[in-house]
Amino acid sequence: MVAETLFQETAASRSPGTSSVLIRKAGVLGAGTMGARIAAHFANAGLPVVLLDIASPEGARSAVAAQALEALKKSKSAAFYEASAIARITIGNFEDDAARLADCDWVIEAVTENLAIKQALLDKIAPHLKPGAVFTTNTSGLSVAAIGARLPGELRRRWFGTHFFNPPRYMRLVEIIPTEEAGPDVIAAIRQFADLRLGKEVVLARDTPNFIANRVGVFILLEAVRLMQTEDLSVEEVDALTGTAIGWPRTGTFRLADLVGLDVLAHVAGNFASARGQTVALPPFIQTMLERRWLGDKTKQGFYKSAKDAEGQDVRLALDWKTLEYRPASRPKFPTLELAKNIEQLPERLAQLLAGDVSKDKAARFHWKLLSGLWNYAADCLPEIAGDAASVDRAMRAGFNWEMGPFELWDAAGVRPTVERMRAEGAPVSANVERLLATGVDCWYRNAGGRVFDLTTGGNKPVTAAEGVAHVAQFRAAHGVVKHNPGASLIDLGDSVACLELHSLKSAIGEDVVRMLTEMLRTDSDAIRNFSAFVITGDASNFSVGANLMQLLLAVQDGEWDEVDFMVRAFQRMTAGIKFCPRPVVVAPFGLCLGGGAEIALHAARRQAHAELYMGLVECGVGLLPAGGGCKEMTIRALDAAAAVRDGARSESIEIIEALRRNFEVIAKATVSTSAAEARHLGFLGPADGITMNRDRLLLDAKNLARDMAKAGYAAPLPRTNIPAPGRNLLATLQMAVHVMREGEFISDHDVKVAGKLAYVLCGGNLTAETPVSEQYLLDLECEAFLSLCGEKKTQERIAFTLKTGKPLRN
Ligand code: NAD
Repeated sequence: MVAETLFQETAASRSPGTSSVLIRKAGVLGAGTMGARIAAHFANAGLPVVLLDIASPEGARSAVAAQALEALKKSKSAAFYEASAIARITIGNFEDDAARLADCDWVIEAVTENLAIKQALLDKIAPHLKPGAVFTTNTSGLSVAAIGARLPGELRRRWFGTHFFNPPRYMRLVEIIPTEEAGPDVIAAIRQFADLRLGKEVVLARDTPNFIANRVGVFILLEAVRLMQTEDLSVEEVDALTGTAIGWPRTGTFRLADLVGLDVLAHVAGNFASARGQTVALPPFIQTMLERRWLGDKTKQGFYKSAKDAEGQDVRLALDWKTLEYRPASRPKFPTLELAKNIEQLPERLAQLLAGDVSKDKAARFHWKLLSGLWNYAADCLPEIAGDAASVDRAMRAGFNWEMGPFELWDAAGVRPTVERMRAEGAPVSANVERLLATGVDCWYRNAGGRVFDLTTGGNKPVTAAEGVAHVAQFRAAHGVVKHNPGASLIDLGDSVACLELHSLKSAIGEDVVRMLTEMLRTDSDAIRNFSAFVITGDASNFSVGANLMQLLLAVQDGEWDEVDFMVRAFQRMTAGIKFCPRPVVVAPFGLCLGGGAEIALHAARRQAHAELYMGLVECGVGLLPAGGGCKEMTIRALDAAAAVRDGARSESIEIIEALRRNFEVIAKATVSTSAAEARHLGFLGPADGITMNRDRLLLDAKNLARDMAKAGYAAPLPRTNIPAPGRNLLATLQMAVHVMREGEFISDHDVKVAGKLAYVLCGGNLTAETPVSEQYLLDLECEAFLSLCGEKKTQERIAFTLKTGKPLRN
């Protein structure tokens, strides 16, 4: 059986090899919620896409797809990395434009979840596909084989399931569902493309109802509903119990249900009927919600809705599931949750939550019943839905954003003691976990997650990570830590490359990070002697939210000006250390990379960024300006870019003015990129910098780049002393622009002050035009301006407000 051998995964089968199937153009059938966004993500990957939907009987024939494209432009969580990507999508309709699929290498079907509709569409489309084209379905849970049953035999070799999660740009999971007839070569090609080009975590799922993530995820969601009823809990209480406390997203159960849509969930729940021995009936109150179309966000009401109170203020209402009436949402408090909040690591938190007295504590009873139900259910689903427990865990982490999958969570809670507890209560225990325990082993994983229990042999098998995928934690576990402080560590990545891992609390850069980076990258350090290249990155969800504002505010409020001056100089020494390090330093930023974090990135020899990069020099937002070399680097970049343009039609000085004015606006407005592609346009990434689509590949992509630069004979830059600062000519232009903004009342008086200082620094002060200046001169200007802004009351108010609320203050 072809499909079965695919599930015997090896490192080689999960690793990107050379595939004979090239994906250069894609077709998407159906421009609904999923189809349109899948098309957008193909466009993000640089692919031309043909997006088709049904033909309109009157008016423009392709109006359905056209409207979908219009809606994509405005979608709340941006579907595109940058607006211009939309140009890669061409639209059409199934009746007139099917022939336009003839040069597509991969066509994905994403129309209504209905077997007959999907089959009829396939009949229509199949004759138009070119020989060798891959054809897949995005069904959430119908039988993939049944959908493709009427396809010609040769095409069935290239037919299988590719299940994306909503929204496809942001959700990391793609389940690949091979049928019995699907060819391993085409599966390998799409797997590789989804991993490298679309940035997805690919998990192989068997062709069973709802596949892996929805099977487990929707089962447990409905289980939470059932327990809410038996334990007499409210919607908000269940959300509090099923959120971050147990490593699930903040949305909990019902906020998530509102986001996904109750109709979609009901559809998935309906599929359970065809799953082996399963019947999942929706409770009557949910049936009523469906009838009333209280489907969640898409119909503006579900388990929650927004309303205005008597004073016209926004209030959030929650559904009382017993009366089906809305009432103001409460903030439930459970003593066990309050205690657990202070425990950082999930395994310890879990132990605390499960230790509660179930006879007295509702929360403890709920957690025990929910999690023991989850564990037994997930175990029962093996090997029906997946090749092994590790695939289920990966699917739940990437598809539902759980911190740990069910089997990892079970190991953390202790398999044997929890099973004994179930037995003592007379509760059912999965036969599969009994088989595990019968072998004398107490956990699903061993060797620090390197091997997992194999139900087919009763032994264990390697957890196969694809080549090129790694996290800093793995190197920390394997090689130990060379140097460590609370903010950062030096870790050996092998091949003579070291990682400077940023891991401070809340990803802020404080004194400890500055010290570690400065000391490690000093010319005479042991690290420089022992390693030939460095990577600065981390495993957290954000690279850095910027300098530690709390440390700064305390010093400012105490009037410790020497201390503030010292902080700025220390930061500048650190970024200079990165820039002039005799070894190549590659920064691999991801997620938020703000303020001081962006300055670290700007000073590296190269940047290897994750595609989801939200980077910006945001200091002006708190009434400051970048003073860790950020202004200096942006001035140098503008001047270099302008000098590189050899356009005979325009003089270099016009190029300089435009480039610097662009950078001035980007910094003054505290602009943050919405992706790495946009960061390039904003000037934070240069043409030589790389972008990695798959977050799990970022570390090794950066490491390989650093190692290759070292091997190629890296020569560090020398501090520049001849920067042609534009001086007073441009300064006057920028000041005029600020003045106009103030006149139009777009900015406040304090904004004028901040922008004025920024303009002064970026221009190199009030010099006569193009006086050559040094990097140190620009750094001194940054420091001076920063200190003077720190002394401003309104800046201090901005910092305090942002620290308190996380938002900017307009004053
Ligand atoms: P949708 O309702 O938003 O879009 C369905 C599209 O199918 C519409 O554009 C519609 O015009 C088209 N369509 C309707 N009738 C048709 C017909 N007779 N012939 C051809 N096309 C027709 O649905 P969606 O949420 O985008 O789901 C599409 C597929 O993706 C389904 O199989 C669904 O199960 C799956 N899916 C959905 C989600 C999700 O969260 N919405 C997630 C993963 C997978």
